[in-house]
Amino acid sequence: MNSLPILQKGHIALSTVCQPVVFPDLDLAHQLTQMHATLADFRSQKGFGRAMAASQVGLNKRIIVMNLGASAFAVINPSITWRSQDMQTVWDDCLSVADCVVRVQRHSSVSVTYQDEQGRVRHWQELPADLAELLQHEIDHVDGILMTDRVLQASDIRPIADHASLIISSRPQTSSFA
Ligand SMILES: [Zn+2]
Repeated sequence: MNSLPILQKGHIALSTVCQPVVFPDLDLAHQLTQMHATLADFRSQKGFGRAMAASQVGLNKRIIVMNLGASAFAVINPSITWRSQDMQTVWDDCLSVADCVVRVQRHSSVSVTYQDEQGRVRHWQELPADLAELLQHEIDHVDGILMTDRVLQASDIRPIADHASLIISSRPQTSSFA
């Protein structure tokens, strides 16, 4: 009942650079509830979706909600503080791109600094490949960049019907981390 519509590719909100959250933010708790509900709804309907950015539901804030299986949490005002020289090539999906999957290049590892729901600063050092890929996708969203903007050639785009064979089968069990 708190769920919001997920905007689709072509909507201006998805190509807008989002504004930082300034603490205290009186709207934040309610907006996080709505975002968590929206991600949970999508997961129950589609069977995938580990994270979602605020821009995908039309909120102009630098917020990502995540659910890696154990619990849901928020990543606020994220920034990448280090990128590995090593790159990985991955097939990627997006809640806001319903019709295709795309092949993109991501750094194999990144370190990220962010704030939690209370505004406390937190750090992730040298994330494993699957989480590094996910955070680069989501931080792109808060900067107004879609995975399709990073496609280099036509053969890097495949129909969503290939989702299971290209993504579900290749994606490792999501790493756990504290
Ligand atoms: Zn996305």
